[in-house]
Amino acid sequence: MTRPSRLYSEVPVADWNDWQWQLRHAVTTGAELAQLLGLPEHWQRTCTEALRRYSAKVTPYYLSLARSASPNDPILRQCLPHPEELHDSPDARPDPLAEEQSSPTPRLVHRYRDRALFLCCSSCAVRCRHCMRKRHWHDALPPPSAAELTAAVDYLRRHHEVREVLLSGGDPLTLTNDVLGGILDAFASVPQLEVLRIGTRMPVTLPQRITADLCAMLSQNPKTLWIATHFNHPWELSDEAAAAADRLLKAGLPLVNQSVLLRGVNDDAETLRQLFTGLLKIKIKPYYLFHGDPVAGTTHFRTGIRKGLDIMNQLRGNTSGLALPAFAFDLPDAGGKIRLEPDCAAGYDEQGTPLFRSFNGSIVPYPNPDQDS
Ligand SMILES: *Cc1c(COP(=O)(O)O)cnc(C)c1O
Ligand code: SF4
Repeated sequence: MTRPSRLYSEVPVADWNDWQWQLRHAVTTGAELAQLLGLPEHWQRTCTEALRRYSAKVTPYYLSLARSASPNDPILRQCLPHPEELHDSPDARPDPLAEEQSSPTPRLVHRYRDRALFLCCSSCAVRCRHCMRKRHWHDALPPPSAAELTAAVDYLRRHHEVREVLLSGGDPLTLTNDVLGGILDAFASVPQLEVLRIGTRMPVTLPQRITADLCAMLSQNPKTLWIATHFNHPWELSDEAAAAADRLLKAGLPLVNQSVLLRGVNDDAETLRQLFTGLLKIKIKPYYLFHGDPVAGTTHFRTGIRKGLDIMNQLRGNTSGLALPAFAFDLPDAGGKIRLEPDCAAGYDEQGTPLFRSFNGSIVPYPNPDQDS
C-alpha cells in the first residue's frame, strides 16, 4: 500500500498500516499541526482559545488526506481548531437534542419506540470540529462498567418493543476488540433484539483499525450487525477507506453512511454528487445527509435548511436514486428527526389537476384518483 501524501513519507509502511501506531502519533497540539502543515505563524495564535475549549486530535492518516495546507482545505476544516468555534449562535447548546433527558439508564438513550442508542465511550481517532457530542469531549467517558452494561441490558430485556441498538460514542471502534466484543455480546444476550448498528468514523479517519481480527469478532456475533460510517467529502474515499469497507462487507456487515452538511466542506451539489456516487462504488449506501444541529462550538458549519434542500433538488433525477440519502435534521429537545424532500408540488391547473415540478424543471400535470372532483 502506498502512502498518499508527502507528509510522513519517512514512516515505514508497517507502522503506517498499524492503527495503534496511528493513534500513538495522533497530532494534538497547535504547534505540531502548524509545523507539520507549514501553517503561518499567526494561525496558531488565532486558534489558541478554541483549542483550549475544544481539544484537537488528528491521525497522521487523516491529515495525509489534505491536499493543501490551507485551513479551508475540506479535510483540514473538519479537524483543525478554528476561532469561529467560540462564536456560537444564541440557540447553540451543548446538547440541543436533549439526549441526556431521554436516558433511562446511564449511556442509554431511548427516544424512538423500536431502537435505542448506547454511548460506548467518548474517544475518537479524530476530533471532528463539527461533532454533535462535543459536550463529551470534556468528561472523557471511559468504556462502560459492568454495572452500566447490566443496567442497559436489564432495561432492554424489559422493553420488548426495542428491536435495534445503536452503538455510538465517541467511536466504539476506539475500544479494543475484547471490550467492544463484550459490549456486543451483552446486547446479543437480549432475546428480542434483532439488529446491532455500530456508528463509526474509523473507515474515514483510521481505516487501519478495520483489521482481520476485528472483522472476525464482528462476524461471530449472533445478531445482525450493520455499520454506519461518516464520510463527508469525496477526498475521504481513499484506497485505504475502500479496502476497509471491503473487509467489513466480506465479513458480512452491510454499510450505510451518514454525512453532515458542512459549510465550506461539502455544501455544494457537485461535491456531494461525487461523495454519494463514490460511496455507492465502494458499496456504501448513502443513508442520511444531516443538517448541522445547533451544537455549541459548531455554528460556523451550519448552512441553513434551504441550502440542503436546494442541493437535494439539484441532485434528484440527475443522480442515481440509490446514491441519494434522506436529507434530515433533528428538532430541538427530543423532538426527533425530520426528513425533508424538495417540494415538487406546483399547484393545480384550471381543471383542478395537480401539477408537479419535474427534475428537469418542467411543470407536469398528474391526474390521479384521489383528486377532488
Ligand atoms: C438518530 C437516532 C436514532 C436512529 O434513528 P434512525 O432513523 O433509525 O437512523 C436512534 N436514537 C436516537 C436517540 C437518535 O438520535
Ligand atoms: S468521530 Fe463522531 S463522535 Fe468522534 S469526534 Fe467525530 S463526529 Fe464526534
